[in-house]
Amino acid sequence: MAKVIVFGSLNMELSMECDRIPHASESLMGRDFITNPGGRGGNQAIAAARMGAETHMVGTVGPDNFGRKIITSLVRYGVATENIAFSTHRSTGVTMRVRSDNDQRSIVYPGANARTDIAYVRATLMGIAAPGDVFLTQLECDFDTTMQAILFAKEKGLYTVLNPTPAMEVPSEVLAKVDLLVLNAIECQRLTGYDPADPTNLKLALASLLELGVGKVVVTLGNKGSATLIDGKVVTVPAYYVDAVDTTGAGDAYLGALMTQYVDGKTLVDAMQIASAAGALATLKVGSHQSMPSFDDILDFMSDNGELVERDE
Ligand code: ADP
Repeated sequence: MAKVIVFGSLNMELSMECDRIPHASESLMGRDFITNPGGRGGNQAIAAARMGAETHMVGTVGPDNFGRKIITSLVRYGVATENIAFSTHRSTGVTMRVRSDNDQRSIVYPGANARTDIAYVRATLMGIAAPGDVFLTQLECDFDTTMQAILFAKEKGLYTVLNPTPAMEVPSEVLAKVDLLVLNAIECQRLTGYDPADPTNLKLALASLLELGVGKVVVTLGNKGSATLIDGKVVTVPAYYVDAVDTTGAGDAYLGALMTQYVDGKTLVDAMQIASAAGALATLKVGSHQSMPSFDDILDFMSDNGELVERDE
């Protein structure tokens, strides 16, 4: 299996539940407070490592307990952390989340994540990457650094994977260098202007990204599954039906499984099927790092729940 190098965010999530979202200037009593290592970069690195890929994390944390706890968790799940730097000036990135019955709201403080510069990413890739390895990134670190990192990774012959979260526009010259783009409905709408909930728009969105030069595109649609375009036809892989308890991390588990399986030689649709099981499994546990399933978990789940692929004529 190809080596995976993830450049991305490492955040501590501070999350609590309350009866409703407070109004302006109002304080409410909360409950079920959890501190949870996360950040989309770290989550996706764990997702890849749990699939059996040698996975290296590139990023920055602050000189604090949050940073140390995140690294301990990454190590626990099999991610190599030698290329995580410690900022002396900025604290570790934080996500503050309020959960209420039908809603959750978050504020992300990038902190040390914004300190990883392109010289550091380049030096790390020169040190550990070989042509054919996978380079995976998201948009939670410094934007310009991320764009330059994708271009550099492609130039070095790496297989480039982008998960454009949080939703932001990405220059077309960078998208043209992305081998595999995996995006959810909101990100799809932001990048293409098309809301993929509508089947005609979904096809237009997928086609427009491929026309820009993206190698392969997969749009994830929550409990509606995921879709790609093959030979001009939309292929949809449904989501598994599960009793979800926390959908945080579903996209990360999906991506880790999709990318590792596709690069390892599965067809894109077979990889999407496996990823669909990974995403469903992640919704069964609260949190991020701890909800990434192993490859064995996924195989067991699929043998219990079967496979289903739909082709749109
Ligand atoms: P993100 O977490 O990035 O917003 P999605 O919500 O689209 O991504 O979820 C990614 C994938 O995880 C989906 O395509 C689906 O296969 C799976 N998934 C997400 N939510 C559920 C759910 N409630 N039930 C079953 N599978 C789910």
